[in-house]
Amino acid sequence: MTTSLGLSIITLVTLFISLTPTLTKSEGGIDVFLPISLNLTVRTDPFSISAASHDFGNITDENPGAVLCPSSPTEVSRLIRFANGGFSYNGVLTSPAPTFKVAARGQGHSLRGQASAPGGVVVNMTCLAMAAKPAAVVISADGTYADVAAGTMWVDVLKAALERGVSPVTWTDYLYLSVGGTLSNAGIGGQTFRHGPQISNVHELDVITGKGEMMTCSLKLNPELFYGVLGGLGQFGIITRARIALGHAPTRVKWSRILYSDFSAFKRDQERLISMTKDLGVDFLEGQLMMSNGIVDTSFFPLSDQTRVASLVNDHRIIYVLEVAKYYDSTTLPIIDQVMDMLSRSLGFAPGLMFVQDVPYFDFLNRVRTEEEKLRSLGLWEVPHPWLNIFVPGSRIQDFHDGVINGLLLNQTSTAGVTLFYPTNRNKWNNGMSTMSPDEDVFYVIGILQSAGGSQNWQELENLNDKIIQFCENSGIKIKEYLMHYTRKEDWIKHFGPKWGDFVRRKIMFDPKRLLSPGQDIFN
Ligand code: FAD
Repeated sequence: MTTSLGLSIITLVTLFISLTPTLTKSEGGIDVFLPISLNLTVRTDPFSISAASHDFGNITDENPGAVLCPSSPTEVSRLIRFANGGFSYNGVLTSPAPTFKVAARGQGHSLRGQASAPGGVVVNMTCLAMAAKPAAVVISADGTYADVAAGTMWVDVLKAALERGVSPVTWTDYLYLSVGGTLSNAGIGGQTFRHGPQISNVHELDVITGKGEMMTCSLKLNPELFYGVLGGLGQFGIITRARIALGHAPTRVKWSRILYSDFSAFKRDQERLISMTKDLGVDFLEGQLMMSNGIVDTSFFPLSDQTRVASLVNDHRIIYVLEVAKYYDSTTLPIIDQVMDMLSRSLGFAPGLMFVQDVPYFDFLNRVRTEEEKLRSLGLWEVPHPWLNIFVPGSRIQDFHDGVINGLLLNQTSTAGVTLFYPTNRNKWNNGMSTMSPDEDVFYVIGILQSAGGSQNWQELENLNDKIIQFCENSGIKIKEYLMHYTRKEDWIKHFGPKWGDFVRRKIMFDPKRLLSPGQDIFN
């Protein structure tokens, strides 16, 4: 029996009173049976199904059978218990076998369907954040942490924290990602070298496991679950609340882009800056490549210098952009001058190629939003994104640079998108967590963030990614992929290496029926 109350744009299928099983049918013809006694509100209308089947990557298309818009964590727990075949109503157990898979979906900014649940139920985590009581973000009385509903976007965590003069300490470049989504990967950016990834800055989590149990975990309480879930690609449970560490919020930022034509000097300065202490050093460090076969975005630089910067790129074919930021407010004004002086005197860039903007802290952290708006206005946001994100051991970065940047990227007729290139410190990562990183003190974050469209289709870009991986393989450069999507089990085993055993053990402990986040393709 199909129950569907057609309500305007969004069809709400509200299941009440009767105990008759309800069948929701996806467009792909796969069915999800939910008994009415579950009392869950799921959406099965084409709009909701279609929205949950796509992601930012714009490459995959996987229809769920239904989308759950939960108003409380207990609803998610009920759904998962039922999917396990263990839901009981009136003392009667329902179906003995799992009936469908379940995936949490934050903002759906995955690249390859990682938040999808083909034929199963996608849990819209935004609904849970909107229903959170007393609020999606609650700052502690002493301002040292925030309890955050996991479906909340980081930009909203920032806004709520700033009202109290505090802020999370480590960020992704883009803030319109959900807390649960980035904690399921790592959450990295220009502050990672100093504070670690976002997963290193979590005190406690509320998680609904793959068995439907609601558990609180931390380093001391249920540590297996805590370690597993952080960077755990959604495999062990659905995070509903995260307790995030906070620090003092500065008011302003000196944001610099410093140009190099010499890779060795660029690399040396990047590595020196990430080794400096907080007082004397910078608060944020990244790097980008400007290549003559790509679109050279000079908008950061003063109008009077833009032509000069563009010709530099043309003349050298590649310019390395060191991007650093130092936070300040009225109490730290003297320090900012010292640090800016240190940067301009001690770094090895060519004279006259350091450019500084002075911006509010919020605008600095939210800088990628401006890029998003630009791309959206040009129709270039909702295009396929065959992005490649990798971590490269510091000891092999020169070989990577020579083989991949010089050998492959610069030899393309054109490149479309941004290439990130910066080092970070491994001692800020907790190796017990699920995320994998190279086994060296310093490793580089490389993001080859190409967009398809125009003359290039995404398969061509994907072929280039394959060549990059192959080059590393052939040269013995032991990279780790980030935000990866493998379809072969052996690739996952290789990725997790010595942690594979723990990963499987935790899967058996917390999601024995392998219901969660099937879009990651690890245990399907
Ligand atoms: P989704 O795509 O919705 O989900 C991702 C995975 O996590 C899925 O497997 C899903 O099932 C699972 N999941 C989601 N919520 C939960 C939850 N509450 N509990 C358990 N599992 C859950 N990453 C960085 O580290 N640094 C960056 O600077 C950065 N910049 C980005 C910029 C852009 C423009 C984009 C599109 C992505 C960027 N990312 C970055 C990648 C981003 O962190 C990941 O794609 C992240 O998963 C996105 O969060 P989301 O809420 O969209 O997750």
